[in-house]
Amino acid sequence: MSKMSIMSKSDEPCCPLCGRPFGTARNISRHHLIPMSKGGKKGLTVDMHNICHRKIHATLTNRELKLNYFTIEKLQQL
Ligand SMILES: [Zn+2]
Ligand SMILES: [Zn+2]
Repeated sequence: MSKMSIMSKSDEPCCPLCGRPFGTARNISRHHLIPMSKGGKKGLTVDMHNICHRKIHATLTNRELKLNYFTIEKLQQL
């Protein structure tokens, strides 16, 4: 049980970052809340849109992710 998913009212899986449904499975990517290179290999992961995932890594370094942005709540404030 190391996977988090957030369900919408219709039980459709939604992206935790933008809150929109995933739609097609193609555009989903898995984010490690603690970057793998920072010891998060067996830590929590969360599925999100490719574009939302890319935004996280374009905005934050792995160090910032590990120190300050290791929860969905924090990432949502970006
Ligand atoms: Zn999204
Ligand atoms: Zn990631």
